[in-house]
Amino acid sequence: MEERTEISSLGEFGLIDHLTKNFEIQNASSIVSIGDDAAVIDHFGKQTIVTNDLLIEGVHFDLMYTPLKHLGYKSVVVNLSDVYAMGGTPTQITLGLAFSNRFSLEALDEFYEGVHAACDFYGVDLIGGDTSTSQKGFIISVTAIGEVAPDKYVRRSGAKKGDLLCVSGDLGAAYLGLTLLEREKKIFLENPQIQPDLEGEKYVVGRILKPEARKDVIGFLTDNAITPTSMIDISDGLSSEILHICSQSKVGCVLYEEKIPIAEETRLAAYKFQIDPTACALSGGEDYELLFTIRQEDYDKITTNEDISVVGYITDEEEGRHIITKGGNRYPITAQGWNAFQ
Ligand code: ADP
Ligand code: MG
Repeated sequence: MEERTEISSLGEFGLIDHLTKNFEIQNASSIVSIGDDAAVIDHFGKQTIVTNDLLIEGVHFDLMYTPLKHLGYKSVVVNLSDVYAMGGTPTQITLGLAFSNRFSLEALDEFYEGVHAACDFYGVDLIGGDTSTSQKGFIISVTAIGEVAPDKYVRRSGAKKGDLLCVSGDLGAAYLGLTLLEREKKIFLENPQIQPDLEGEKYVVGRILKPEARKDVIGFLTDNAITPTSMIDISDGLSSEILHICSQSKVGCVLYEEKIPIAEETRLAAYKFQIDPTACALSGGEDYELLFTIRQEDYDKITTNEDISVVGYITDEEEGRHIITKGGNRYPITAQGWNAFQ
């Protein structure tokens, strides 16, 4: 039998102390951390970036197929991704949690293991939070705080005609991972004897359960003195993010289907489910890659990075927002981009 320690046996302060005792401060900017009424941060002349995400059981995640450790990791990563998408460096997080008595101390420990791993990997400090009970389910609220050199943050609104549209990594895998997990869940609920068949699908399942934020891409851009003119992280599918950049920058764009980066594993999984892989990239979501625009004169600098793809370019607003398909057809990009292909 797995061990089960009731959380009530520790008391609130005992619990917070237990969960946070192994977190060590990594940033000089974390002046006052867990243990007082609030934390104090000093970014020493830099500007501060703040963002928050709420994750609700049954809405944003399903504990039937999401290991708590992965959930802890992902809760941190999705927030850090927003800080990177501003061109900043995340430095601290706070973490608010609510859970019902269904959750044991061992379960929370697992969740915090994931949080800890993400904090270590991305070099951020857990400097506070809040702990509460809920009537039902698990609720996670993460605030990420970061820093950026004065006025060097990158907004969604700076794209200009002629700029190149760039994407990091590859797209569409997370959506297929989710589709696969949902299918296996359904099969399991109908027949608990059948073991999940995830063989050969490690890549797409990994992309939904354990996403990474593109710290490396921001580092590359900084090291090569490339300042994107606009940037956004791809959490809701490429189409939707391109439309955000275009509307906030008051520009149009041309996107080439054949340039959209899609991993081989993603294509194979898409064909298995008889879904268009391009549709997964355009409308899938949860990839946590970066979409950004650069000036044409920076093109040579990015060609050395295999993890950055140029997928199109920015036009005048009057020209609209279009995708050119592999067959050479031209369609307006919609938030549900793949409808155009049906
Ligand atoms: P308050 O009563 O002022 O809300 P708490 O007793 O909730 O304070 O929290 C005590 C300290 O522990 C604070 O520094 C708070 O930020 C931190 N904290 C509370 N819950 C968590 C948590 N789940 N993870 C990390 N830090 C936490
Ligand atoms: Mg509190």
